[in-house]
Amino acid sequence: MIKEVCLGTALAVLIFLLILGYNVVPLLLLGGLGVFLYLLVDKKGFVGSSFHVGYMQQVDFTFDDIGGQAPAKQELKEALDFVIHSDQILEMGIRPLKGILLTGPPGTGKTLLAKAAAAYTRSIFLATSGSEFIEVFAGVGAQRVRQIFKTAKERAIREKKNGAIVFIDEIEVLGNRRGTHAGHLEYDQTLNQLLVEMDGLRNDNRVKILVIGATNREDMLDPALLRPGRFDRIVRVDLPDKAARFHILKLHCRNKPLGEDVDLEKIAQESFGFSGAHLESVANEAAILALRENSLCISQHHFKEAVDKVMMGEKLDRKPNKEELYRIAVHETGHALISEILRPGSVSHLTVTTRGRALGYMRQIPEDDLYLYTRDYLEKQIQIFLAGSVSESILLGSQSTGSINDFQEAVQIARQIIAAGLSPLGIIWEDILPKDVFHQTIQDILRQQEEKAKSMLFANLDALKEIAQMLVDREYLWGDSLREVLTRKQKAELH
Ligand code: ATP
Repeated sequence: MIKEVCLGTALAVLIFLLILGYNVVPLLLLGGLGVFLYLLVDKKGFVGSSFHVGYMQQVDFTFDDIGGQAPAKQELKEALDFVIHSDQILEMGIRPLKGILLTGPPGTGKTLLAKAAAAYTRSIFLATSGSEFIEVFAGVGAQRVRQIFKTAKERAIREKKNGAIVFIDEIEVLGNRRGTHAGHLEYDQTLNQLLVEMDGLRNDNRVKILVIGATNREDMLDPALLRPGRFDRIVRVDLPDKAARFHILKLHCRNKPLGEDVDLEKIAQESFGFSGAHLESVANEAAILALRENSLCISQHHFKEAVDKVMMGEKLDRKPNKEELYRIAVHETGHALISEILRPGSVSHLTVTTRGRALGYMRQIPEDDLYLYTRDYLEKQIQIFLAGSVSESILLGSQSTGSINDFQEAVQIARQIIAAGLSPLGIIWEDILPKDVFHQTIQDILRQQEEKAKSMLFANLDALKEIAQMLVDREYLWGDSLREVLTRKQKAELH
């Protein structure tokens, strides 16, 4: 209505000036510019239209559809019970919960938890991402923040719901510490607006709005966001442990035909460090591999290959020449033999197939999820990394560039040994340790472990030769085949 009155008045003034003989062209240009700027920041304009005020979904997703994450679910449910029983908490004079922050690595299920929270509280669910608020134009982000809260309220009223959940993914983009951005005015205004909106959330409002933020970088957030009264519950969503990985795999295999030989527990054990998103991808890739083979169901080998694919990348057509292939086989056999000797039963498989950036690889079966490592464990790990290059020099008389990554890993482990006070230097302060002493200690650790790997490989030279040749011929070897050769050779030596 106001718009129409303003437009009518402006037109009348223009016609009046025209009758009086004034040149109205500059005024028209000025008006055009005004309209252009208005459209630019208005939600109906072309900049605004690229921003959808969150996506709203019919949420029928529950906490039972999320694998593992028991502590996060428990903490979140407890916080949400405050929202559900808002009348009770009002009687007790408890301040309502305004925000919950989910923090943790990517793909661990933070979005899923927010969706489940919406279903649990029977609320409207609006999702958006921090990056959607930021434009180069000052004020646009702040307007978008106002808009999302307004939309949440309107939709909840329209759908006769008492609550709405505003989910902001990547909240660190919008909630970054104020004053740290080059174009900081726009960022600061946007964050200020979010703080204002959160401060305005009251228990006596008709629609209770809860903000759930998700981030992988809690350290980047402005302290004002984290102070009590805004995001006053911080829920940690971690990478799943073995039992949780098994649970997630089971959930993602619910709708898939599994073969009799499938052992998801074993796959869970082999996928240490995988997030829920990785595991979903493993289940999906395994089904794709089965389909490619025209198989009616998914077998264990499909899952194993899917783990490799998710871990290392897609198989490549790059074919090394004959000499290179033998060198790669010798290198991988070296890793596998030392792994098997030091930790019997630890080799899952080895291959000379090119995948991602690796020309070949050996995959171990982690014994258990480990969160602490002893010096002995770390030293053995260094021996396994160095065994590739050592076997190349034993069987081929030279080393190659294929060991660069192994060396980097070995050096990292040696640094870890020193930093943890497990080296002969004892407990040190790395910053004031002379560089040459540091370097010498790393060298000593690596050399000692290299010597150990060398003597073990010399003691098993026949097995090294035979397995390397088998790998060239077959391209792919299961740990069991390797173990069979190793045991046979060791028995023959005893007789
Ligand atoms: P990001 O930080 O990258 O936004 P996120 O933590 O929000 O990631 P989600 O988007 O919730 O991760 O998860 C991505 C996908 O991974 C989900 O759609 C789901 O398929 C799978 N997933 C992740 N965690 C779990 C879990 N705990 N249970 C079942 N599936 C999971």
